[in-house]
Amino acid sequence: MAEPLTNWAGNITYSAKELHRPHSLDALRTLVAGSARVRVLGSGHSFNGLAEPGSGGVLLSLTALPPSVDVDTEAGTVRVAGGVRYAELAKVVHGRGFALPNMASLPHISVAGSVATGTHGSGNANGSLASAVREVELVLADGSALTIGRGDRRFEGAVTSLGALGVVTALTLDLEPDFEVAQQVFGPLPRVGLDFEAVSASAYSVSLFTDWRQPGFAQVWVKRRTDRPWGGFPWAEPAVEAMHPVPGMPAVNCTPQFGVPGPWHERLPHFRPEFTPSSGAELQSEYLLARPHALDALGAIDAIRAEVAPVLQICEVRTVAADAQWLSPAYGRDTVALHFTWVEDTAAVLPVVRRVEEALAPWEPRPHWGKVFTAAPEVLRGRYPRLDDFRSLAGELDPRGTFRNEFVDAVLGG
Ligand SMILES: Cc1cc2nc3c(=O)[nH]c(=O)nc-3n(C[C@H](O)[C@H](O)[C@H](O)COP(=O)(O)OP(=O)(O)OC[C@H]3O[C@@H](n4cnc5c(N)ncnc54)[C@H](O)[C@@H]3O)c2cc1C
Repeated sequence: MAEPLTNWAGNITYSAKELHRPHSLDALRTLVAGSARVRVLGSGHSFNGLAEPGSGGVLLSLTALPPSVDVDTEAGTVRVAGGVRYAELAKVVHGRGFALPNMASLPHISVAGSVATGTHGSGNANGSLASAVREVELVLADGSALTIGRGDRRFEGAVTSLGALGVVTALTLDLEPDFEVAQQVFGPLPRVGLDFEAVSASAYSVSLFTDWRQPGFAQVWVKRRTDRPWGGFPWAEPAVEAMHPVPGMPAVNCTPQFGVPGPWHERLPHFRPEFTPSSGAELQSEYLLARPHALDALGAIDAIRAEVAPVLQICEVRTVAADAQWLSPAYGRDTVALHFTWVEDTAAVLPVVRRVEEALAPWEPRPHWGKVFTAAPEVLRGRYPRLDDFRSLAGELDPRGTFRNEFVDAVLGG
């Protein structure tokens, strides 16, 4: 009997018995046009039922399609096929003398799946990964193709789209000239008296880590571009040994530290592509709220840390610049993101997730679409001012609801 299909974390078993992997765009179009329900699975790194097609639905993977990555050196852009992961994309882009503006903590994830959920790295001036997208190529429910580019009235709904508009067969991204990054870990850093704005602005990308067993941060990962001036990190001492953010995990899994400069794609993610990212046995949640409330939100979690710490492996605090994608958790507000890597025990974790959501509620947090959350759909809807526009767009491009599932129905409501 075939193995059941699960996500990377193993906490979701998809109801589909088979993963369809069309070998050509024509085969993909025929499959989609002949199916009542379709969801695409990227690299499966989401922690909830977002990709679940529902009973009788088709679960589709693009990994058998040509993994094309085409850099246009004149335009400074790259067109990447829908099944490609950041690790493969980054290698080609760097090889052609270019860079992506930012990456998530791991390069193992697919580009299309990442931008569909608003996946982000860190940096006060760095938007979510979707911010680099300038064009989306879709196969719609009837098998037809549609390209939506920046400037199109539909564009701000088309990138962070939860997979609800169609199959993303390719994306075109903006590139920058190649740059180098030096990564250094500092710590410990007390929370009391923390100048969050200064710390998060101190380098291109900054991540603060705490296991909430004590009130401060054990590690701060500082990633600075070597082509920009740097004022140092005066708040904590540099680490003297290589670090992994999760206590007890081997640092060999992580990208080089100690301020040794290297290519952007070998420093911006925390984890190296050839190793298991994070702890490998975990659940994750993340909440994005307006950055000026960072210290209040951290104080609220500190107040419940006795409940949080027993089921937590590590908490990471990052920043994301505001963007304009209607369903982006960073929509319209410069953001602080509070991420939680939990133990792999849904029953023990869910009540704590609820407690965290209650604690953060005053700042109207938007949960990461790809992670575990319990917030009611009507609450979420109130946190997305352009949700109606997205609902209309989904109705326009997918009138029969081929790409809808329980998760998307709940979010969009009515
Ligand atoms: C260890 C680990 C570390 C992580 N670190 C970060 C981080 O640093 N920052 C962050 O923001 N998130 C992070 N995440 C979350 C992760 O980035 C998101 O869950 C992301 O969606 C993963 O991409 P994926 O391809 O695996 O998506 P999947 O889970 O496969 O799919 C996500 C959604 O995208 C849709 N989709 C995928 N491909 C297509 C396509 N071609 N066409 C249409 N729809 C598509 C799916 O249907 C689904 O709705 C992490 C996850 C893990 C497991």
